[in-house]
Amino acid sequence: MTAEATTTAVCEVVDLVKHFGPVHAVDGLSLRVDPGEVLALVGESGSGKSTVGRLIVRLIDPTSGTVRIGGVDVGSMSRRALRPHRRTVSIVFQDPASSLDPRMRVGDIVAEPLRLHGVPRSDRSARVREVLEQVGMRAGVAERYPHELSGGQRQRVSIARALVSRPRLLVADEPTSALDVSVQASVLNLLTDLQRDLGFACLFITHDLAAVEYLADRVVVMYLGRVAEVGTRELIFEHPRHPYTQALLSAAPVPDPSRQRKRTRVVLSGELPSQIDPPSGCRFHTRCPLAEDRCRTEVPALREMSHGSVACHLVADDGTGPDVRDLPDPTQPSRLVERRR
Ligand code: SF4
Repeated sequence: MTAEATTTAVCEVVDLVKHFGPVHAVDGLSLRVDPGEVLALVGESGSGKSTVGRLIVRLIDPTSGTVRIGGVDVGSMSRRALRPHRRTVSIVFQDPASSLDPRMRVGDIVAEPLRLHGVPRSDRSARVREVLEQVGMRAGVAERYPHELSGGQRQRVSIARALVSRPRLLVADEPTSALDVSVQASVLNLLTDLQRDLGFACLFITHDLAAVEYLADRVVVMYLGRVAEVGTRELIFEHPRHPYTQALLSAAPVPDPSRQRKRTRVVLSGELPSQIDPPSGCRFHTRCPLAEDRCRTEVPALREMSHGSVACHLVADDGTGPDVRDLPDPTQPSRLVERRR
């Protein structure tokens, strides 16, 4: 990573570690979010991706590692020293029903970050009106309580609260997965429009690959607390290099069926292993159709290649390597591979 890149990132985390007692939620993760980009952080439930979001906004403290916001190391700052930096990073949670205080009116909920940052009351109300309008809500909604709103409206309120202090980075943690399918698209469209119009960077945490393909500029694929692969959206969807990314994509519904011609559908065996005592070597080796002996003992380094990085022993420095979707069936282990029609 170049020195120049380091100074321009909105957010950069280096070797981030978070252990909750014996649980290794995040284990040496590095990533950067550049100004104005949407970086998707993708992984299964239990991969540690939500923990990364909470570490970046400093809702929780890291066990070790660096979190830089706008070039400033906030990882070790006291809560008080951190306060000015809090305005530059906001978070939207999965479930607006539990993240909005039911006793507060919408206007006060949205204004609260401004109040905490000492913005005078007279300036707050104009800004609240403006941001409610930006998320597509009428000004009258400011007088209502969260329980009077639908799930989609409540998530719009959460987004308004997150954007009221004009952050440079929005962390969106599964922002649509608790919503009815019928309103998921409208909230996703809203986030996309706001991101384009207001120009903030977004760390979009999700397991939904269709949403990632729709709005991400770059993608970080996470597996059991570590990065498996990083790449531009085009690279991840057209030429995934890590066997785990390939397996995820083979299982996901993709709008253009021609792209999956002659591909094998890879069914990963079993659940994600426990974050307590994770597998040795490559953490994916217990489910990887290509695992070799060394995968069980040697941790693959995350190596930079054109358009991204990959952590797999079998991927060459030029990015070439096997694709689990090309494995023939039925000669391969049946627990892992199932032929696509
Ligand atoms: Fe599979 Fe080995 Fe690559 Fe890990 S390092 S993804 S186990 S081939």
